[in-house]
Amino acid sequence: MHAEVDALVIGAGVSGLSTAICLQEAGLRVLVRATQPPERSTSMMASAMIGPSFAAPGDPALGWHRETVRRLTPDTPGVRVLDGRMAARPAGMVPPGVERFEGYRPCRPEELPEGYGTAFWVRQPVVDMPPYLRHLADRFTAAGGRLVLEPVRSLDEAAEVAPLVANCAGLGAAELTGDRQLKPVRGPKIVVANPGIEHFFIEAPLGPIWAGFIPHGDRVVLGGTHRDSADTTPDEAEAAEIIRRCAVVEPRLADAPVLEHSVGLRPGRPAPRLELEKLGRARIVHNYGHAGTGVMLSWGCAREAADLLVS
Ligand SMILES: Cc1cc2nc3c(=O)[nH]c(=O)nc-3n(C[C@H](O)[C@H](O)[C@H](O)COP(=O)(O)OP(=O)(O)OC[C@H]3O[C@@H](n4cnc5c(N)ncnc54)[C@H](O)[C@@H]3O)c2cc1C
Repeated sequence: MHAEVDALVIGAGVSGLSTAICLQEAGLRVLVRATQPPERSTSMMASAMIGPSFAAPGDPALGWHRETVRRLTPDTPGVRVLDGRMAARPAGMVPPGVERFEGYRPCRPEELPEGYGTAFWVRQPVVDMPPYLRHLADRFTAAGGRLVLEPVRSLDEAAEVAPLVANCAGLGAAELTGDRQLKPVRGPKIVVANPGIEHFFIEAPLGPIWAGFIPHGDRVVLGGTHRDSADTTPDEAEAAEIIRRCAVVEPRLADAPVLEHSVGLRPGRPAPRLELEKLGRARIVHNYGHAGTGVMLSWGCAREAADLLVS
């Protein structure tokens, strides 16, 4: 056991870095160990929408989302607060309680994209992940945290490093815990040069394929698809269909130069695993399996994971 480490965090994606910062805020000396650096994590692939959350009353995701929005102020590197449209194919699909969201107003008929029966405006934070993850890592190390690139081979090994452990290994948690509910969900990311778009657009509910675009300065991130698969090979036909769908909503996207086409694997699970486990004298909190909402839930889950660990 490292005498100078109170807590070990496994993973340096958005869950691991946020949890590490919350543990630091509780006064602990924290070591993060990760197989890959933050810029090689799934978190780097996120678009990243932060809501709104349509979780049912009583669902813990509502509180996790609220805490994330509270922390993502516009002065945070990578974070912008934008107006954008949410749309559904059928008419009359306005989610209950949507009037509560900041900036809400139904779209005028001329703002309704072709093929959609419902659309409304909301104001939401969006996160440009490369600068945001860099900011989290810098904030953690500037406060005295250590980030080491070294895989953790088992939870027993982790428990020997520190008495408190946070398992934020994303898909890597399957191997560490044997959790059979955790499955890779393929998600392509297409980045194009921004032809002048200032508002986001997202189709809901998300089916196997949808149109969504989020401007981040001079780039726009397009999505997306949802397929249970661990295949990360870029598929040109899939990308062309995503661009086509986005261009129906925003014709300027049709010819925007493609800057990046990559594929990430979301840590799919019916619900995130956020619970405490004892292993000998060590306490382990699990914080993984956030599927397509890991950034959106990041601060809320990190806060709760840290509270469970130190309580
Ligand atoms: C295309 C795409 C778009 C997305 N868009 C959004 C969005 O708009 N909004 C949103 O909220 N979410 C979005 N997501 C989902 C989001 O990216 C994930 O939910 C989130 O990144 C999960 O973060 P994480 O930190 O839990 O896992 P990861 O980012 O996967 O990080 C896991 C970390 O654990 C490390 N690790 C794994 N195993 C071990 C081990 N044995 N030892 C040490 N380290 C280990 C890895 O190296 C990595 O550092 C999107 C995902 C994709 C693919």
